[in-house]
Amino acid sequence: MRFRPELDPLRPYRPPHLAKELEADRGPAGYVKLTMNELSFGPLPGAEAAVRESLARANRYPEREAAALREAVAAANPGSSTANVIIGNGSSEVLSNLLAILERPGEIVYPWPSFSLYPAIARILGLESRPVELTAEKAVDPEALLAAVTERTRAVVLCNPNNPTGTCLPLAAVRELAASLPEEVLLVLDEAYYEFVSDPAYAGSHELALSTPNVVSARTFSKVHGLAALRVGYGIAPEPVADYFERVRFPFSVNAPAQAAATASMREGDLIRKRARFVIEERERLQSAFAAAGYDYVPSQGNFILAKIPADLFERGGVLVREGEALGFPGWSRITVGDSGENDRVIEAISAR
Ligand code: PMP
Repeated sequence: MRFRPELDPLRPYRPPHLAKELEADRGPAGYVKLTMNELSFGPLPGAEAAVRESLARANRYPEREAAALREAVAAANPGSSTANVIIGNGSSEVLSNLLAILERPGEIVYPWPSFSLYPAIARILGLESRPVELTAEKAVDPEALLAAVTERTRAVVLCNPNNPTGTCLPLAAVRELAASLPEEVLLVLDEAYYEFVSDPAYAGSHELALSTPNVVSARTFSKVHGLAALRVGYGIAPEPVADYFERVRFPFSVNAPAQAAATASMREGDLIRKRARFVIEERERLQSAFAAAGYDYVPSQGNFILAKIPADLFERGGVLVREGEALGFPGWSRITVGDSGENDRVIEAISAR
């Protein structure tokens, strides 16, 4: 067979302690798993009930347009209509479909280190990659991003807050970046962690996608909604972008239980915001503990913290975290903010040096 040679360097990502992570996923285990920026609580009760109800109709294909889900997303994002809502099998698929609609040949520009999926999707979809270094403070440098844009650039992908650093470009700076980019370049805001941003001014970020023809805001049900297993992502996009997106979207890519759960969860804005506040408080508690123990960390706006603490210190305390080496920060670790008990274990682990 003749495989595409550009796929040769791609390898599935295997964390070094995969067996222990799977053990932790199976239930009460010796290890606490804080490796994947998941939420440590289950879905909201209403979302769980909606899944159960949808199973009775599992003989039927899912609702083709996911109308209820789109309506719930539009209602939660003032100023948008269902024509602005795009959906996918996780925000990973939303990002992939967004890049699939852009003209070839071309390249994507993105800050680096960031989410490893960007260069991988680009390679799979036949786009080139142009990573742009973060600043010394591990933050995004919008001017450097702009300077990296060339005639071949089809999209700038901005992870905001950035995984794994947790830094967040303020909305005013994102707006300025959007205004300075050529109109043919799509600005993809990957806002997987946006509910954890504590700056109230960031809340209306989706409006940028409604007022600017080349901005899309991509979000997920995998984090604050606690629905990672169901794989649902969405985005707010200008109508022409949403229209092209629909051309490449696989029919039924968001399954029926996932549509039901996401719709129910999106309608519970107050409960979701309460969860986000809990995570933010716990994030501050962990950061204070790191500071008190004399460890360097990057103040985070996500549900995770990048800290200059070796991963094996956590592991000795029964806590699995993501080793910084694989994320571009050797000697550092990315710690997901868990529930109170899990976060207590994190604090115990760093106290036991
Ligand atoms: N974007 C970022 C920045 C992420 O960290 C993740 C998950 N780790 C995703 C997108 C993808 O999430 P999902 O496909 O589960 O929505």
